Amino acid sequence: MSLGEFDLIAKYFVRPAGQGPRRAVIGNGDDCAVLAPAAGMQLAVSTDTLVEGRHFLSTVDPVRLGHKALAVNLSDLAACGAKPLGFTLALTLPRVDETWLAGFASGLLDLADEHDCELVGGDTTAGPLAIGVTVFGEVPVGGALLRSGARPGDDLWVSGHPGEARLALEAFRGSLHPSLPADAFDATRLAMECPEPRVALGLGLRGLATAAIDVSDGLLGDLGHILRRSGVSADVFTDALPLSPWLPARTRDEQLDCILAGGDDYELVFTAPPERRTEVSALGAQLGLVLSRIGSIAASSAPTEPCCRLWHGADPLVNRWTSFDHFRSDVREVP
Ligand code: ADP
Ligand code: MG
Repeated sequence: MSLGEFDLIAKYFVRPAGQGPRRAVIGNGDDCAVLAPAAGMQLAVSTDTLVEGRHFLSTVDPVRLGHKALAVNLSDLAACGAKPLGFTLALTLPRVDETWLAGFASGLLDLADEHDCELVGGDTTAGPLAIGVTVFGEVPVGGALLRSGARPGDDLWVSGHPGEARLALEAFRGSLHPSLPADAFDATRLAMECPEPRVALGLGLRGLATAAIDVSDGLLGDLGHILRRSGVSADVFTDALPLSPWLPARTRDEQLDCILAGGDDYELVFTAPPERRTEVSALGAQLGLVLSRIGSIAASSAPTEPCCRLWHGADPLVNRWTSFDHFRSDVREVP
Protein backbone atom coordinates (compact mmCIF):
# COMPACT_ATOMS: atom_id res chain seq x y z
CA MET A 1 0.00 0.00 0.00
CA SER A 2 1.36 3.42 -0.84
CA LEU A 3 2.11 6.02 1.81
CA GLY A 4 -0.54 8.55 2.80
CA GLU A 5 0.08 12.30 2.64
CA PHE A 6 1.13 12.76 6.25
CA ASP A 7 3.32 9.65 6.39
CA LEU A 8 4.99 10.79 3.21
CA ILE A 9 5.74 14.22 4.68
CA ALA A 10 6.99 12.70 7.93
CA LYS A 11 9.19 10.16 6.15
CA TYR A 12 10.83 12.40 3.56
CA PHE A 13 10.49 16.04 4.58
CA VAL A 14 10.56 16.18 8.39
CA ARG A 15 14.13 15.91 9.60
CA PRO A 16 14.93 13.65 12.54
CA ALA A 17 16.30 15.48 15.62
CA GLY A 18 19.91 16.46 15.10
CA GLN A 19 19.71 16.44 11.30
CA GLY A 20 19.79 19.68 9.34
CA PRO A 21 19.68 23.26 10.60
CA ARG A 22 17.12 24.25 13.29
CA ARG A 23 16.60 27.95 13.45
CA ALA A 24 12.88 28.54 12.96
CA VAL A 25 11.01 29.47 16.15
CA ILE A 26 8.28 27.09 14.93
CA GLY A 27 9.28 24.69 12.16
CA ASN A 28 7.50 21.95 10.24
CA GLY A 29 4.27 20.46 11.62
CA ASP A 30 2.18 23.46 12.60
CA ASP A 31 -0.18 25.62 10.54
CA CYS A 32 2.53 28.21 10.03
CA ALA A 33 6.25 28.24 10.46
CA VAL A 34 7.51 31.16 12.55
CA LEU A 35 10.84 32.76 11.69
CA ALA A 36 12.64 35.50 13.59
CA PRO A 37 15.18 37.48 11.56
CA ALA A 38 18.11 38.69 13.67
CA ALA A 39 18.09 42.26 14.97
CA GLY A 40 19.09 44.73 12.24
CA MET A 41 18.15 42.32 9.46
CA GLN A 42 15.29 42.29 6.94
CA LEU A 43 13.60 39.24 5.43
CA ALA A 44 14.19 38.57 1.70
CA VAL A 45 11.58 36.27 0.09
CA SER A 46 11.45 34.63 -3.34
CA THR A 47 9.42 31.87 -5.08
CA ASP A 48 10.15 29.73 -8.13
CA THR A 49 8.19 26.84 -9.60
CA LEU A 50 9.47 23.96 -11.73
CA VAL A 51 6.93 22.21 -13.97
CA GLU A 52 7.57 18.89 -15.67
CA GLY A 53 7.89 19.22 -19.45
CA ARG A 54 8.63 22.92 -19.25
CA HIS A 55 11.52 23.21 -16.79
CA PHE A 56 12.78 19.66 -16.62
CA LEU A 57 12.64 16.37 -18.51
CA SER A 58 10.57 13.53 -17.06
CA THR A 59 13.73 11.41 -17.21
CA VAL A 60 15.82 13.72 -15.00
CA ASP A 61 17.52 12.13 -12.00
CA PRO A 62 15.32 12.99 -8.98
CA VAL A 63 18.43 13.79 -6.88
CA ARG A 64 19.37 16.48 -9.38
CA LEU A 65 15.80 17.72 -9.60
CA GLY A 66 15.63 18.14 -5.82
CA HIS A 67 18.91 20.05 -5.95
CA LYS A 68 17.74 22.29 -8.78
CA ALA A 69 14.35 23.09 -7.23
CA LEU A 70 16.13 24.70 -4.28
CA ALA A 71 19.16 25.97 -6.25
CA VAL A 72 17.12 28.24 -8.52
CA ASN A 73 15.54 29.81 -5.43
CA LEU A 74 18.81 30.20 -3.54
CA SER A 75 20.09 31.90 -6.68
CA ASP A 76 17.49 34.65 -6.21
CA LEU A 77 18.63 35.15 -2.62
CA ALA A 78 22.23 35.31 -3.89
CA ALA A 79 21.31 38.03 -6.37
CA CYS A 80 19.96 40.12 -3.48
CA GLY A 81 22.95 39.49 -1.24
CA ALA A 82 20.71 37.59 1.19
CA LYS A 83 21.84 34.81 3.52
CA PRO A 84 19.54 31.75 3.31
CA LEU A 85 17.46 30.98 6.43
CA GLY A 86 14.67 28.62 5.42
CA PHE A 87 12.27 27.49 2.72
CA THR A 88 8.88 25.92 2.10
CA LEU A 89 8.11 23.21 -0.45
CA ALA A 90 4.85 22.91 -2.40
CA LEU A 91 4.95 19.49 -4.01
CA THR A 92 2.40 18.20 -6.52
CA LEU A 93 2.89 14.51 -7.26
CA PRO A 94 1.11 12.29 -9.80
CA ARG A 95 1.69 9.22 -7.59
CA VAL A 96 3.70 8.12 -4.55
CA ASP A 97 6.96 6.70 -5.91
CA GLU A 98 9.23 6.15 -2.92
CA THR A 99 12.39 5.65 -4.97
CA TRP A 100 11.76 8.98 -6.65
CA LEU A 101 10.87 10.68 -3.34
CA ALA A 102 14.00 9.41 -1.59
CA GLY A 103 16.21 10.74 -4.41
CA PHE A 104 14.38 14.05 -4.63
CA ALA A 105 14.50 14.63 -0.87
CA SER A 106 18.22 13.82 -0.67
CA GLY A 107 19.14 16.23 -3.50
CA LEU A 108 16.97 18.94 -1.97
CA LEU A 109 18.04 18.51 1.66
CA ASP A 110 21.77 18.05 0.92
CA LEU A 111 21.84 21.44 -0.81
CA ALA A 112 19.72 22.92 1.99
CA ASP A 113 22.20 21.67 4.60
CA GLU A 114 25.12 23.01 2.56
CA HIS A 115 23.55 26.47 2.79
CA ASP A 116 22.28 26.11 6.36
CA CYS A 117 18.72 26.57 5.10
CA GLU A 118 15.87 24.87 7.02
CA LEU A 119 12.81 23.26 5.40
CA VAL A 120 10.14 24.86 7.58
CA GLY A 121 6.92 23.68 5.92
CA GLY A 122 5.07 23.11 2.70
CA ASP A 123 2.11 21.58 0.99
CA THR A 124 1.67 18.17 -0.64
CA THR A 125 -1.04 17.43 -3.21
CA ALA A 126 -1.78 15.02 -6.05
CA GLY A 127 -1.65 16.21 -9.66
CA PRO A 128 0.78 16.73 -12.56
CA LEU A 129 4.37 16.85 -11.23
CA ALA A 130 5.28 20.40 -10.16
CA ILE A 131 7.60 21.74 -7.49
CA GLY A 132 7.20 25.15 -5.91
CA VAL A 133 9.78 26.45 -3.47
CA THR A 134 9.68 29.68 -1.47
CA VAL A 135 12.92 30.75 0.17
CA PHE A 136 13.50 33.15 3.04
CA GLY A 137 16.79 34.89 3.65
CA GLU A 138 18.14 37.81 5.61
CA VAL A 139 19.87 41.03 4.56
CA PRO A 140 21.07 43.95 6.66
CA VAL A 141 18.39 46.67 6.84
CA GLY A 142 18.53 48.63 3.56
CA GLY A 143 21.39 46.47 2.29
CA ALA A 144 19.68 44.21 -0.30
CA LEU A 145 21.35 44.24 -3.71
CA LEU A 146 18.80 45.52 -6.22
CA ARG A 147 18.44 45.76 -9.98
CA SER A 148 18.05 49.52 -9.76
CA GLY A 149 21.46 50.65 -8.51
CA ALA A 150 23.63 50.61 -11.68
CA ARG A 151 25.25 53.98 -12.43
CA PRO A 152 26.98 55.34 -15.57
CA GLY A 153 30.67 54.47 -15.42
CA ASP A 154 30.15 51.24 -13.43
CA ASP A 155 31.87 48.08 -14.62
CA LEU A 156 29.68 45.19 -15.72
CA TRP A 157 30.62 41.73 -14.42
CA VAL A 158 29.42 38.15 -14.79
CA SER A 159 30.34 35.09 -12.70
CA GLY A 160 31.27 31.63 -13.98
CA HIS A 161 30.62 30.32 -17.47
CA PRO A 162 27.14 31.14 -18.74
CA GLY A 163 26.07 29.12 -21.78
CA GLU A 164 26.77 25.59 -20.59
CA ALA A 165 23.14 24.77 -19.70
CA ARG A 166 21.99 25.90 -23.13
CA LEU A 167 24.63 23.79 -24.83
CA ALA A 168 23.30 20.72 -22.99
CA LEU A 169 19.71 21.60 -23.89
CA GLU A 170 20.62 21.83 -27.57
CA ALA A 171 22.43 18.50 -27.30
CA PHE A 172 19.24 16.96 -25.84
CA ARG A 173 17.27 18.40 -28.73
CA GLY A 174 19.75 16.91 -31.21
CA SER A 175 20.28 20.28 -32.84
CA LEU A 176 24.09 20.38 -32.56
CA HIS A 177 26.14 19.40 -35.62
CA PRO A 178 28.61 18.00 -34.85
CA SER A 179 27.11 16.67 -31.63
CA LEU A 180 28.82 17.04 -28.24
CA PRO A 181 31.53 14.56 -27.20
CA ALA A 182 30.54 12.47 -24.16
CA ASP A 183 32.66 14.43 -21.64
CA ALA A 184 31.23 17.75 -22.81
CA PHE A 185 27.70 16.37 -22.69
CA ASP A 186 28.13 15.07 -19.13
CA ALA A 187 29.67 18.32 -17.87
CA THR A 188 27.17 20.66 -19.49
CA ARG A 189 24.29 18.40 -18.48
CA LEU A 190 25.50 18.74 -14.89
CA ALA A 191 25.45 22.53 -15.28
CA MET A 192 21.88 22.36 -16.61
CA GLU A 193 20.50 19.87 -14.10
CA CYS A 194 22.54 20.76 -11.03
CA PRO A 195 23.38 24.49 -10.97
CA GLU A 196 25.39 25.86 -8.03
CA PRO A 197 23.71 28.95 -6.59
CA ARG A 198 26.23 31.78 -6.09
CA VAL A 199 25.25 32.46 -2.49
CA ALA A 200 28.78 33.20 -1.23
CA LEU A 201 29.33 35.60 -4.12
CA GLY A 202 26.09 37.44 -3.32
CA LEU A 203 27.15 37.83 0.31
CA GLY A 204 30.60 39.08 -0.77
CA LEU A 205 28.99 41.64 -3.07
CA ARG A 206 27.07 43.32 -0.23
CA GLY A 207 28.27 46.90 -0.14
CA LEU A 208 30.44 46.30 -3.20
CA ALA A 209 28.06 45.80 -6.14
CA THR A 210 25.72 48.63 -7.11
CA ALA A 211 23.20 46.29 -8.81
CA ALA A 212 22.83 42.55 -9.36
CA ILE A 213 20.58 39.92 -10.94
CA ASP A 214 20.82 36.17 -11.40
CA VAL A 215 20.81 34.86 -14.96
CA SER A 216 17.85 32.55 -15.47
CA ASP A 217 16.45 33.74 -18.80
CA GLY A 218 19.68 34.63 -20.64
CA LEU A 219 22.47 37.09 -19.91
CA LEU A 220 21.31 39.90 -22.20
CA GLY A 221 17.65 39.53 -21.26
CA ASP A 222 18.40 39.63 -17.56
CA LEU A 223 20.91 42.46 -17.98
CA GLY A 224 18.01 44.32 -19.64
CA HIS A 225 16.16 44.22 -16.29
CA ILE A 226 19.10 45.97 -14.58
CA LEU A 227 19.24 48.57 -17.36
CA ARG A 228 15.51 49.25 -17.24
CA ARG A 229 15.30 49.47 -13.45
CA SER A 230 18.44 51.62 -13.27
CA GLY A 231 17.58 53.84 -16.27
CA VAL A 232 20.97 53.29 -17.90
CA SER A 233 22.46 51.65 -21.01
CA ALA A 234 25.36 49.22 -21.36
CA ASP A 235 28.25 48.37 -23.63
CA VAL A 236 29.13 44.67 -23.70
CA PHE A 237 32.50 43.61 -25.09
CA THR A 238 31.95 40.17 -26.61
CA ASP A 239 35.71 39.49 -26.68
CA ALA A 240 35.67 39.66 -22.85
CA LEU A 241 32.89 37.08 -22.40
CA PRO A 242 34.05 34.03 -20.45
CA LEU A 243 34.25 30.91 -22.62
CA SER A 244 33.30 27.62 -20.99
CA PRO A 245 35.86 24.86 -21.68
CA TRP A 246 33.11 23.17 -23.71
CA LEU A 247 32.44 26.07 -26.04
CA PRO A 248 35.64 26.65 -28.06
CA ALA A 249 34.76 23.72 -30.34
CA ARG A 250 31.53 25.42 -31.41
CA THR A 251 31.09 28.15 -34.04
CA ARG A 252 31.28 31.76 -32.81
CA ASP A 253 27.55 32.14 -33.50
CA GLU A 254 26.74 29.12 -31.34
CA GLN A 255 29.06 30.41 -28.60
CA LEU A 256 27.35 33.80 -28.53
CA ASP A 257 23.86 32.23 -28.67
CA CYS A 258 24.68 30.11 -25.63
CA ILE A 259 26.47 32.78 -23.59
CA LEU A 260 24.26 35.76 -24.35
CA ALA A 261 20.83 34.15 -24.55
CA GLY A 262 21.24 30.62 -23.17
CA GLY A 263 19.32 30.82 -19.92
CA ASP A 264 19.22 28.49 -16.91
CA ASP A 265 22.74 29.64 -15.97
CA TYR A 266 22.17 30.87 -12.41
CA GLU A 267 25.29 32.98 -12.59
CA LEU A 268 25.22 36.55 -11.25
CA VAL A 269 25.46 39.63 -13.45
CA PHE A 270 26.39 42.67 -11.41
CA THR A 271 27.74 46.19 -11.62
CA ALA A 272 30.39 47.86 -9.45
CA PRO A 273 32.34 51.12 -9.60
CA PRO A 274 35.70 50.84 -11.44
CA GLU A 275 37.57 51.90 -8.27
CA ARG A 276 36.36 48.65 -6.61
CA ARG A 277 37.82 46.48 -9.41
CA THR A 278 40.61 44.96 -7.33
CA GLU A 279 38.16 44.12 -4.54
CA VAL A 280 35.89 42.32 -7.01
CA SER A 281 38.84 40.37 -8.43
CA ALA A 282 40.02 39.49 -4.92
CA LEU A 283 36.53 38.22 -4.07
CA GLY A 284 36.57 35.96 -7.14
CA ALA A 285 40.01 34.62 -6.18
CA GLN A 286 38.89 34.02 -2.60
CA LEU A 287 35.82 32.07 -3.79
CA GLY A 288 37.69 30.23 -6.57
CA LEU A 289 35.11 31.61 -8.99
CA VAL A 290 35.86 33.21 -12.36
CA LEU A 291 34.55 36.78 -12.40
CA SER A 292 34.73 38.43 -15.83
CA ARG A 293 34.50 42.15 -16.52
CA ILE A 294 32.41 42.10 -19.68
CA GLY A 295 31.43 45.72 -20.21
CA SER A 296 30.42 49.00 -18.69
CA ILE A 297 27.36 51.03 -17.86
CA ALA A 298 26.61 54.32 -19.63
CA ALA A 299 23.99 57.03 -19.38
CA SER A 300 20.82 56.42 -21.34
CA SER A 301 19.04 58.92 -23.55
CA ALA A 302 15.81 56.87 -23.30
CA PRO A 303 15.74 55.42 -19.76
CA THR A 304 12.49 53.47 -20.31
CA GLU A 305 13.90 51.64 -23.34
CA PRO A 306 17.18 50.14 -22.19
CA CYS A 307 19.83 49.89 -24.81
CA CYS A 308 22.61 47.36 -24.81
CA ARG A 309 25.36 47.90 -27.39
CA LEU A 310 27.47 44.90 -28.31
CA TRP A 311 31.07 45.20 -29.50
CA HIS A 312 33.48 42.89 -31.26
CA GLY A 313 36.74 44.75 -30.65
CA ALA A 314 36.02 48.27 -31.86
CA ASP A 315 33.26 47.10 -34.23
CA PRO A 316 29.58 47.23 -33.29
CA LEU A 317 27.70 43.93 -33.41
CA VAL A 318 23.98 43.75 -34.21
CA ASN A 319 22.09 42.62 -31.09
CA ARG A 320 19.92 39.74 -32.37
CA TRP A 321 19.38 38.09 -29.02
CA THR A 322 16.17 38.37 -27.10
CA SER A 323 15.44 36.72 -23.81
CA PHE A 324 13.14 33.85 -23.04
CA ASP A 325 9.51 34.63 -22.22
CA HIS A 326 7.22 31.76 -21.14
CA PHE A 327 4.17 33.33 -22.71
CA ARG A 328 5.71 34.55 -25.93
CA SER A 329 7.61 31.56 -27.18
CA ASP A 330 8.13 27.89 -26.70
CA VAL A 331 11.86 27.92 -27.39
CA ARG A 332 12.74 26.60 -23.93
CA GLU A 333 10.18 23.77 -24.01
CA VAL A 334 12.10 20.58 -23.39
CA PRO A 335 11.66 17.76 -25.92
P1 ADP B 1 -2.52 22.62 6.44
O1 ADP B 1 -3.69 21.66 6.38
O2 ADP B 1 -2.52 23.47 7.66
O3 ADP B 1 -2.31 23.35 5.17
P2 ADP B 1 -0.94 20.42 5.81
O4 ADP B 1 -1.85 19.37 6.31
O5 ADP B 1 -0.96 20.73 4.36
O6 ADP B 1 -1.22 21.71 6.63
O7 ADP B 1 0.55 20.08 6.23
C1 ADP B 1 0.86 19.60 7.53
C2 ADP B 1 2.26 20.08 7.93
O8 ADP B 1 3.20 19.50 7.08
C3 ADP B 1 2.41 21.58 7.85
O9 ADP B 1 3.23 22.01 8.90
C4 ADP B 1 3.10 21.78 6.52
O10 ADP B 1 3.90 22.94 6.52
C5 ADP B 1 3.95 20.51 6.42
N1 ADP B 1 4.17 20.08 5.02
C6 ADP B 1 3.25 19.73 4.11
N2 ADP B 1 3.84 19.36 2.94
C7 ADP B 1 5.17 19.49 3.12
C8 ADP B 1 6.30 19.27 2.30
N3 ADP B 1 6.20 18.86 1.02
N4 ADP B 1 7.51 19.53 2.82
C9 ADP B 1 7.64 19.98 4.09
N5 ADP B 1 6.62 20.18 4.91
C10 ADP B 1 5.39 19.95 4.44
MG1 MG C 1 -3.53 24.80 8.40
